[in-house]
Amino acid sequence: MNTQTKIDLRSDTITRPTPEMLQAMMHAQVGDDVFGDDPTVNALEKKVAELFGMQAALFVSSGTLSNQLAIRTHCSAGSEVICDALSHVYLYEGGGIAMNAQSSVRTLQGDRGRLKAWQIAEAINNPLDIHQPVTRLVSLENTMNKGGGSLYAFEDILEIQSLCQQQNLKLHLDGARLFNALVETPQRPADYGKAFDSISICLSKGLGCPVGSVLIGTENLIHQARRFRKAMGGGWRQAGFLAAAGIYALDHHVDRLRQDHLRAKEIGEILKDKPYVQEIFPIETNIVIVRLNPPLTAVYFVNTLNAKGIQAVTFGKDLVRFVTHLHFTDDQLSDFKHRIQNMFEGVSKND
Ligand SMILES: *Cc1c(COP(=O)(O)O)cnc(C)c1O
Repeated sequence: MNTQTKIDLRSDTITRPTPEMLQAMMHAQVGDDVFGDDPTVNALEKKVAELFGMQAALFVSSGTLSNQLAIRTHCSAGSEVICDALSHVYLYEGGGIAMNAQSSVRTLQGDRGRLKAWQIAEAINNPLDIHQPVTRLVSLENTMNKGGGSLYAFEDILEIQSLCQQQNLKLHLDGARLFNALVETPQRPADYGKAFDSISICLSKGLGCPVGSVLIGTENLIHQARRFRKAMGGGWRQAGFLAAAGIYALDHHVDRLRQDHLRAKEIGEILKDKPYVQEIFPIETNIVIVRLNPPLTAVYFVNTLNAKGIQAVTFGKDLVRFVTHLHFTDDQLSDFKHRIQNMFEGVSKND
């Protein structure tokens, strides 16, 4: 068995607060957020709304809750949501769209999870046809997790926005990793605020907070989302201790995301010529998805890595995902290289 420290690349959700973040949390002023009395929650919500140039924001416990509140607010029974087949809102939220919004989902096949306006246009139902669900919402994801942290071209987003406006559809962004996109592209948060009706951002991914996401939108949308959150049991009390971590992260952990991206590219460099690697998805941000050569399976590969002190997750039968984050340092990167060196020496490209 391996007694070295594990190199944990399963997700960017695994980080713990840094000492500085913990200080900010411990010194937070708090109150009862259900009464609207928590000054730190209120400050976080105001800060995020202003950053994106939107009217209001709501601090919630998870990205799933934030996405689901947005979808519940935009849709009603019998609505349909258009999204990519690889979307988190469709694959990983427990069927929440059916459960919470009583709506169906039309999945499309994009390019590594990114849709084009023409594809969406073809999938919009005729609102006068009583056979069909009523198309209400388009939901995009940026960066796209299952696409390997892929980035949308902002022009594509703007085209989708104008289609949605013409067709009277709402446009939501699952921006769990939007800050990873923002540090790699020329757009500002306010550009996204103008393009979408609602945006969900995660503080608990690359930004390194222990808990929390923020939903951003109009006053009216956030008011309704606050009501649904209460009904779902998501109203919370002295949440300011957690909001303080969010404020700290927005001030100190955004620019450093570039380091995560550079280290992800390094992981790609280390793996690219290995005989067991068939393909690596283009590495645009902090996610590395590797396709293995048969007969190697993702499960076997991940177990073998684990025995060497490296943790990753399977992402399909022959796919493995590595995610870089706040705790993955240059020292760990060289350890990673070292530990992986002689793995599967017997496997050749043609096996
Ligand atoms: C992590 C993630 C979420 C939200 O996940 P929670 O675990 O509920 O916070 C939403 N969308 C994407 C793309 C994610 O990666």
